[in-house]
Amino acid sequence: MSEVEARPTNFIRQIIDTDLADGKYKTIQTRFPPEPNGYLHIGHAKSICLNFGIAQDYRGKCNLRFDDTNPTKEDVEYVDSIKRDVEWLGFHWDGEVRYSSDYFDQLYHYAIELINKGLAYVDELSADEIREYRGTLTQVGKNSPYRDRSVAENVALFNKMKNGEFAEGKACLRAKIDMASPFIVMRDPVLYRIKFASHHQTGDAWCIYPMYDFTHCISDAIENITHSLCTLEFQDNRRLYDWVLDNITITARPHQYEFSRLNLEYAITSKRKLNLLVSEKIVDGWNDPRMPTISGMRRRGYSAAAIRDFCQRIGVTKQENTVEMSTLEFCVREDLNENAPRAMAVLDPVRVVIENFSETLDEVLSMPNHPNRPELGNRNVAFTREIYIDRADFREEANKNYKRLVLGKEVRLRNAYVIRADRVEKDNQGNITTIYCTYDPTTLNKNPEDGRKIKGVIHWVSVKFALPAEIRLYDRLFNTPNPGSADDFLATINADSLIIKQGFIEPSLRDSKPEFAYQFEREGYFCLDSKYSKDDHYVFNRTVGLRDSWSE
Ligand code: ATP
Ligand code: MG
Repeated sequence: MSEVEARPTNFIRQIIDTDLADGKYKTIQTRFPPEPNGYLHIGHAKSICLNFGIAQDYRGKCNLRFDDTNPTKEDVEYVDSIKRDVEWLGFHWDGEVRYSSDYFDQLYHYAIELINKGLAYVDELSADEIREYRGTLTQVGKNSPYRDRSVAENVALFNKMKNGEFAEGKACLRAKIDMASPFIVMRDPVLYRIKFASHHQTGDAWCIYPMYDFTHCISDAIENITHSLCTLEFQDNRRLYDWVLDNITITARPHQYEFSRLNLEYAITSKRKLNLLVSEKIVDGWNDPRMPTISGMRRRGYSAAAIRDFCQRIGVTKQENTVEMSTLEFCVREDLNENAPRAMAVLDPVRVVIENFSETLDEVLSMPNHPNRPELGNRNVAFTREIYIDRADFREEANKNYKRLVLGKEVRLRNAYVIRADRVEKDNQGNITTIYCTYDPTTLNKNPEDGRKIKGVIHWVSVKFALPAEIRLYDRLFNTPNPGSADDFLATINADSLIIKQGFIEPSLRDSKPEFAYQFEREGYFCLDSKYSKDDHYVFNRTVGLRDSWSE
């Protein structure tokens, strides 16, 4: 990434500027802290661009830290995919990958410190009782009968928890704060719970696992994080973040700042719900091209640069809002319009025979790979007597607004000649099977000499040389702009979100690679699918259409 990419400021950068000016910190240290319980999605991309972007611009550092305190939901598959996705987005974490589980020993000692200070106790209420005792927004909580145990008793009981002498759910460690606090997170939050589960990093070393709120702030402090950025739903948790750090012996003092999460129209940005789409086989894995996951967008042909551009455009604020899908697609299209080579493919083919063209000649035509970028060079495409055009590009009759091929009229073939449709042949059902045409040999990339005006241009491929290809057209995955708020979001799935066409592609696409999109002229941007394309079985994904069809 070049440093000249203009970075609009935001409230977090303003806080950092002030902190640096005041000498509060000399260098900036951020972190991206995913829980490895699913694949990253576009919302995470926002957080990644924010955290790594700040580190880059302030010549600071950004850690990748797996927030791995919930072994039953987590997996190394997710750890690996997250590392891959962050790197693919173009970011580099500082040093080794970190894990909250690296700090389990230290966390345990900080828990003991709180117990020794009379600030934590082992509770033996059941989970249901704890919930009941907690109270509500309008009603204060009440103290657990176990709240006033002695320090010595708590130390002994916590040790018993650690040694596996309590069954799951029979005891937990809680902070002793205030059961009447207006912030429910401060009503003696649970710090440790018992789980007899193997952990993907620590194996069976522990049967007690620290909770997020206790772990996160301490991990930040251990890593000397200066600005700990998270989404707004953690606003209340900041009190607990500060409480823990204020009550333990630790030098570094990070601060938490909240920003609004990215919500994207027609998309789900919850790992739990995305997981359901995968496990219910509604989509074809986490990297299904319709998924708003980083791996899905990558397979679909979105570039990392386009996603970074999107994250920059949407900005960082404290206002909850939902971004239109067209904003993301705008960024993808802008990038591809500039960078994608052009090619021709016919998605719904009908055969055309050019009767006055040689039966034996394959005329090699040179075509520019990009209309505005001559440095991308030219390619050779053979023009032959039989070609395919798209069914939608021909009509037996049409009014003046239809600027394609009409019976008895002329049209230009892209990068080739002008043809006129003379007659059609149909099958028993009345479907056109062949269009017979004549071409004007004087019109190769130039206008007819007698001044005839040719209005339309259509694309084509050679019957003899084109390669058959399966072309996958994607639409929004949901029928409703806010599927996340639906009672049953699975009921809002768009049944037509994937349409498969059997078409033909020009032979130069033989060498195309997954994730590298082309503009199929007049059709949109497409890239080879990494999963289903095999040898000479070509499968292309539509990355995005040529124009914004969402706001129509
Ligand atoms: P999910 O609900 O998808 O599981 P999460 O917040 O639980 O999201 P984490 O793995 O904990 O997922 O997220 C890692 C980081 O990414 C956190 O700092 C979180 O705040 C941030 N993040 C997650 N979702 C979004 C989003 N939609 N917009 C911006 N940041 C997000
Ligand atoms: Mg989370």
